[in-house]
Amino acid sequence: MRRLLVAGNWKMNASADMAEQLLAGLRAALPAECDVAVFPPFPYLSAARQQLSGTEVVVGAQNVASEESGAFTGEVSAAMLADIGCGMALVGHSERRQLYGETDYQVLAKVRQLLSHGLTAVVCVGETLEQRKAVKEESVVAEQLSLLISELSDADWERIIVAYEPVWAIGTGETASPEQAQAMHAFIRSELAKVSRDTAEKTRILYGGSVKAANAAELFSQPDIDGGLVGGASLDATEFAGICRA
Ligand code: PEP
Repeated sequence: MRRLLVAGNWKMNASADMAEQLLAGLRAALPAECDVAVFPPFPYLSAARQQLSGTEVVVGAQNVASEESGAFTGEVSAAMLADIGCGMALVGHSERRQLYGETDYQVLAKVRQLLSHGLTAVVCVGETLEQRKAVKEESVVAEQLSLLISELSDADWERIIVAYEPVWAIGTGETASPEQAQAMHAFIRSELAKVSRDTAEKTRILYGGSVKAANAAELFSQPDIDGGLVGGASLDATEFAGICRA
């Protein structure tokens, strides 16, 4: 029922030339069996949209402003993203939470902005290594989701995707085992049942953290894992296409 999605977060990488080559490689190699999204840095979004026209690949942003418009120097609004044809944006990535102090309130405000402009929000959650060692991973993730669960409706959740990204697995080469990931995804789905059973069943939950072509198939075959959010490996068209095929 839930279609798998593979999403590539380029982070603060690429140049205009590199973006063009990467997307050309992707266009040539992508299979049709799953949904695909790419999240290039802001300056390359419009070119990416043009280059991917005629494909089903969704272009998304890595961040969005929590405000509608106005005196917010350096911010990019959801309206602007909609204007250039972006279909999604990441919200609450652990790097934004850790390095820029993004709070759960800001995450909610950003999600609201995206929804009100017709975009899909990919909300990232996940625990640190210390929190996992202290067996707090479920309470941490529940807390990160709690405002979204209490404030948003079933209709809102139709355009929200959750990405479970244990911080200790991001960019480290260390992947959560399929069993660890599945257990957390099942927990997240049980939390989403607080919105409704329908939302719990329909919401896609991606796994992120050192996903590669070699480990993707085992992760994606878990019943509650609906695809992946891929960082480093999304910068290599062949590897990324391999993950999509998985
Ligand atoms: C990410 O940044 O969302 C991510 C999952 O990175 P990586 O795949 O490099 O671990």
